[in-house]
Amino acid sequence: MTKTILIIGGSFGSIKAAWTLRHLLDEKHRIIIISDKPRTTFRASFPRVIFENLDPEKITMDLSENFKNTGIEFICDPMASIDQDNNQVICENNNYQFDYLILATGARHAYEFLPGSREFGLSVCDISRILETREALLNFDRGNFFAGVGAGFTPCDGPPMEIIMDLHHLLSEKGKRDNVKLNYITDKGQLLPPGGPEVWKYLDEHFNRKNINVHLNVHLTKLDKDTLYFKDGKTMPYDICLLVPPFRGIHALQNSDLIDERGFVHVHMKNMLAKDSKNKNIYAVGDCIGNPGPKQGHLAFMQATVASEHIAWRINQTGIVRMYLPEFKCVMDQGGGIGLHLYSQHMSEGDGLKIELGEEPYKSKIRFEEIFIEKKGDIGELHHQMLK
Ligand SMILES: Cc1cc2nc3c(=O)[nH]c(=O)nc-3n(C[C@H](O)[C@H](O)[C@H](O)COP(=O)(O)OP(=O)(O)OC[C@H]3O[C@@H](n4cnc5c(N)ncnc54)[C@H](O)[C@@H]3O)c2cc1C
Repeated sequence: MTKTILIIGGSFGSIKAAWTLRHLLDEKHRIIIISDKPRTTFRASFPRVIFENLDPEKITMDLSENFKNTGIEFICDPMASIDQDNNQVICENNNYQFDYLILATGARHAYEFLPGSREFGLSVCDISRILETREALLNFDRGNFFAGVGAGFTPCDGPPMEIIMDLHHLLSEKGKRDNVKLNYITDKGQLLPPGGPEVWKYLDEHFNRKNINVHLNVHLTKLDKDTLYFKDGKTMPYDICLLVPPFRGIHALQNSDLIDERGFVHVHMKNMLAKDSKNKNIYAVGDCIGNPGPKQGHLAFMQATVASEHIAWRINQTGIVRMYLPEFKCVMDQGGGIGLHLYSQHMSEGDGLKIELGEEPYKSKIRFEEIFIEKKGDIGELHHQMLK
């Protein structure tokens, strides 16, 4: 019997799932990616678009071209809803039947939960706003700079940290560092909580060495053109503020019966099957899941692997499904060709820990991006092997 596996989304989670399935399943089974956009951009490289003048086109894939003759079909058609009873995805142009469905639709930037964040805050997450951010940061050399996350649920603290480090480097190079106060704000109690105590301690000292003020446990609730407003009534004046907006699930999942109050899908971590999948055939991976934990590309890849292996095991009635052991892994740009690699098994009770600052982490991140694009996203285990 031929099976059809639909994968919704056109980024890290979906591309990894599609290739894993393609390698595990007989070619008679159909693997179809459906995304709302014809192209996808490698977001982890956005800091280089800002500080190294990297052309966004160089890190953008045309999905239709990418999957030509690969045995993976691509359809550009925004999903509008899911009909669980009839195993159908309803898109703007067509309806699509599935045997298995993998949701990899990411998180929506819910600016409305942090008033002023769209109008007055700069973005490092949104491709349509990245050039405006570049312009503002490259011309900034005097005043109060803030970067971070507000109080509206944003489990993604790395990108604003990269920006503040890059900016510190740029200002130092220009001899303007003393004119600028750099501030990092977060509603969390530590810098990168999933990293664990050694990572927190290292980052505290790292920020301190660069004279960056860290404000932990501050709940930004609003901003206007020159003031940040916090939950405890305090205010802070600012000149530039770069924020990752609050995250919520996408609108198309709203009536799916799959989501929590924030619009995310809760899954069984052993196989990524959605807890509320009526027919036990809907999976979710990456930033769209509602289980606790950071929202990271590395984890999206790991989750996509587990979901795909589980589907292949069900179809093939044999095979191995790996255990999902979330680990913290990121490389943060520091400016000047230096990267900071943080790896920690803290989330899964492991002892593994690596903290490495230097040229090699920076180069390996670029290598990863280049290989990802060159191999059309068919990266195997490369996300694990980087820097190991
Ligand atoms: C600046 C920056 C730097 C980062 N650096 C790192 C890093 O160094 N390491 C790391 O691990 N992570 C990093 N991340 C996080 C990482 O990019 C995300 O965790 C990852 O992109 C999540 O992948 P995903 O596939 O789950 O979701 P997304 O990448 O958000 O993709 C969601 C996909 O779903 C599509 N979609 C949305 N709605 C619909 C719809 N209605 N119908 C069809 N398709 C839809 C979207 O177009 C998109 O293609 C970084 C993020 C940013 C912004």
